[in-house]
Amino acid sequence: MSETGANNTHFDIAVVGAGAAGLSVAYFLAPHARVVVLEREDQPAYHSSGRSAAMYIEGYENGVVQELTTAGREFFFEAPAEFSETPLVTPAGGLTVAGPTEQTALDKYLQTWTPSCPDLHAVSPAECMGIVPILREEWVQGGAFDPSWHNIDVHALLTGYQRGIRAHGGEIRSRFEVTALAWDTGQWSLGGSLGGSAEPLTADVVVNASGAWANHTASLAGLTPVPLTPMRRTAAIVPAPDHCAPWPLVHTVRENLYFKPESPGLMVCPQDETPSEAMDAYPLDLDIALAMEEFHKVANHPVEHVMHSWAGLRTFAPDRHPIVGFADGLHGFFWLAGQGGFGIQTSPGLGELAAQIILGHATAHETINVARFGT
Ligand SMILES: Cc1cc2nc3c(=O)[nH]c(=O)nc-3n(C[C@H](O)[C@H](O)[C@H](O)COP(=O)(O)OP(=O)(O)OC[C@H]3O[C@@H](n4cnc5c(N)ncnc54)[C@H](O)[C@@H]3O)c2cc1C
Repeated sequence: MSETGANNTHFDIAVVGAGAAGLSVAYFLAPHARVVVLEREDQPAYHSSGRSAAMYIEGYENGVVQELTTAGREFFFEAPAEFSETPLVTPAGGLTVAGPTEQTALDKYLQTWTPSCPDLHAVSPAECMGIVPILREEWVQGGAFDPSWHNIDVHALLTGYQRGIRAHGGEIRSRFEVTALAWDTGQWSLGGSLGGSAEPLTADVVVNASGAWANHTASLAGLTPVPLTPMRRTAAIVPAPDHCAPWPLVHTVRENLYFKPESPGLMVCPQDETPSEAMDAYPLDLDIALAMEEFHKVANHPVEHVMHSWAGLRTFAPDRHPIVGFADGLHGFFWLAGQGGFGIQTSPGLGELAAQIILGHATAHETINVARFGT
């Protein structure tokens, strides 16, 4: 990358968005290039990256997501000492449960994931009840248990990325909303505003890591949109039963409920996927009510009140693969979007791959390449 001296308005690479995507790619770029991460909000990870269920699940979504997740396995399990004083992952386990008439779905789930998840195995209804005693005996008909699911310490992960960026001379500028992008005499000019003021920057490469706003950011550069849909997902914390701390995440094979121990209670999620505008997402009463209804069908634990609830956007391409790579015909505009419900767990693997592609040391495979949409 070019020598830019001490100029603090020109960078090799400007990353738009300080969520897991933007911070991870900047972390892997920072040792090799002068990087700035620009974030509209007061702090990084205000949107999706601060609202996740914080799970690391290798048998999740599809084979492409699995590959990107396992590419970061060593990073998660053996993080560099200077990255975090605490472990990035702790064991959780995952129990997938099937109710009446769901045996076929459970068989299909096991067939899909057993070949690539060696620890995944079928468990009987009695074993399910032994693992999570609040499951309703009359409801649970079978299950699958995978002890390899882990909780991610998202705060430690995102703090580690930020520390690494700064340690290599990179910058993170909050309250900088990119409002204009222009290609001019061989570099990008990035206009920003917060209440109308932010010093303009220039950069050789712009990385679009703006989550649910990725198409908006692309439109600033004059690009046509790619098929990305932000989808709202809701979560609630309810009072926990005694002795639930060691329970795994419990997930229905129908994909309409999961719950897991989450301080100060149990996190319950209806696994909603409601298309949304790019926005500061908030939970709807109806989605919380649906979560409670499903929870009561599956678990024998009365919930008298919800302690806390939130919603976040999971932004998907139609094939549920991320969208990665340089826009065709547009100098130095790089897509890093569409991380759906897997953007935290894929961030080390995908962040490093994206950095390698930007630096010219790797190419984006066709399964994730933005070129699959003809742009
Ligand atoms: C309830 C829920 C549960 C989830 N559970 C998991 C899980 O267990 N494991 C997992 O791996 N993933 C999970 N996810 C998904 C994960 O949270 C997302 O995939 C990930 O956070 C996406 O990261 P991102 O950086 O792309 O987006 P974001 O975190 O939304 O970051 C994008 C940033 O770009 C900024 N931005 C946008 N436009 C501009 C602009 N013009 N100028 C400056 N800044 C801009 C935004 O302010 C935002 O901060 C979950 C998500 C939800 C909602």
